[in-house]
Amino acid sequence: MSTRDALTGHLRVEADRARCAGHAQCLLAAPTVFDVDETSLKVILLDPEPAEGLRPAVQRAVSMCPMGALEIVD
Ligand code: SF4
Repeated sequence: MSTRDALTGHLRVEADRARCAGHAQCLLAAPTVFDVDETSLKVILLDPEPAEGLRPAVQRAVSMCPMGALEIVD
């Protein structure tokens, strides 16, 4: 991947709401990508195709989710 692609590309993120237990770790790690619905306490994908530059934050969110509900599918 060229530097240009790294700056202009996008990830693809998926969230399994059935597995989500509302821990909100993802929201802390990447607040422009994830939110948690206050009623259902389930994750909301604010940005399912975040910019490549957000990969470290999204990867952190994936790692921090205790339910394994998040995935970068690229
Ligand atoms: S960290 Fe995982 S379990 Fe918690 S709200 Fe996010 S997706 Fe759901």
